[in-house]
Amino acid sequence: MVLQIDLSALRANYRTLAGLAPGARAAAVVKANGYGLGAEHVARALAQEGATDFFVALASEVPAVRRGAGAESRIFVLSGHMEGAALGDAIPVLNSAEQFFRDRATRPGRPFAIQLDSGMNRLGMEPGEWAGLKAEALAAAPELIMSHLACADEPDHPMNRQQLQCFREMTDGVTVPRSLAATGGILLGPDYHFDITRAGIGMYGGQPFADAKPVVRLSLPVIQTREVIAGETVGYGNTWTARRTTRVATVAAGYADGIHRALSSDGNRRRIDLLAGDNRCPVLGRVSMDLITADVSALDEVPAALDLLSPAQTVDDVADIIGTIGYEVLTSLGARYPRSYV
Ligand SMILES: *Cc1c(COP(=O)(O)O)cnc(C)c1O
Repeated sequence: MVLQIDLSALRANYRTLAGLAPGARAAAVVKANGYGLGAEHVARALAQEGATDFFVALASEVPAVRRGAGAESRIFVLSGHMEGAALGDAIPVLNSAEQFFRDRATRPGRPFAIQLDSGMNRLGMEPGEWAGLKAEALAAAPELIMSHLACADEPDHPMNRQQLQCFREMTDGVTVPRSLAATGGILLGPDYHFDITRAGIGMYGGQPFADAKPVVRLSLPVIQTREVIAGETVGYGNTWTARRTTRVATVAAGYADGIHRALSSDGNRRRIDLLAGDNRCPVLGRVSMDLITADVSALDEVPAALDLLSPAQTVDDVADIIGTIGYEVLTSLGARYPRSYV
C-alpha cells in the first residue's frame, strides 16, 4: 500500500497558480500535514520552487514545516495566538482583539499578522472590532492583513464581490501587505489577488483548479484472488451477489486508511472502481476496515497492485461519489500508508 506523491506535479501546480497572480507573492498553505501528503516534504519542494511564506492551522504543525521550508521562511499560524500556544518562531494570524492583546502582552515586538472577517463569520475581527483596534494594530506594524472568501469556488456568487468590498473598506489606504485569495480567489482574477496569495488545494491537484496536474497515486496491493460462481456473495452483509462467474481480487486497504465505507457498492450497483492502468475493476460489496474486493474478471493478468487514486480517478472523482470535496478525501488518507515521493 503506497501513497505516491508527485512533487514535480506539485511544484508545477504551484508555479502555474503563482503565474496567475504575477503581481503577488505566492504563499503556500500546508496545514493538516500538507493536505495529508506530508508537510515536511511538501514544504521542502515548494521552498525549492521559490515559496517563502507558508500557512498552517495550528502551532503544533510548525516544526515539520520549518524542517522542510528552512530557517528563512515565514510560517503563519491561522488559528492565531491561542491561550498557551507554543508559537516559537512562527507568526500568529491574530483573529480577535483578545488574541491581539494576549499576543502583544506576551510577544512584544515579535512579528504578527491580522485576520479580518469580511462576511464568512468563521474567524477574524469584525468590522466594528477592527475599527476600534486599527490604529493601535497598525502602529505595531503587522506583517500581513488577510481575510478569507466563503464562496470563491463559485465565480458568479455575489458573496465574492460583497466580501471584496468589505475587505477593501477595512483596509484601503493601509500600507501593510494584504491577502484575500486562496485557490478559488486566485481564479477569480486580479481584483482578488492583492499582495500575497494563499493557494492550498490547487497545488495538491484538486478542484476548483481545473488545470491542476494530478499529484497523488494510491496503489493497493492485491493479497488474494479467487473465483466466485453465480449465486455466491462477497463481503460483509452479503450485499453483492455474483450473477456469473467472477474473478475477485482482495486488496489490503480499507476505511481505516481513509477509504470511505460509503464507496461500497450499492448492492450490485457499482459505485467506484479500482484501476489497473486504464482498466476499471468495480469494487464489489462493502469496504471493510482493512480490505476491499474488486472485480478483476476483465484483466488478462492481475497486477500486484490496483490503484484507487490515479490520473484516471482523481480525489474529486472519489469525492463526488461520496458527496464530499477533494479536500476531505486528501486529508483523510491514513497514517498507515508509506508515502513515497517522486
Ligand atoms: C485552507 C485555507 C486556505 C487555502 O485554501 P484552498 O482552498 O485549499 O486553496 C487559504 N486561507 C485560509 C484562511 C485557509 O483556511
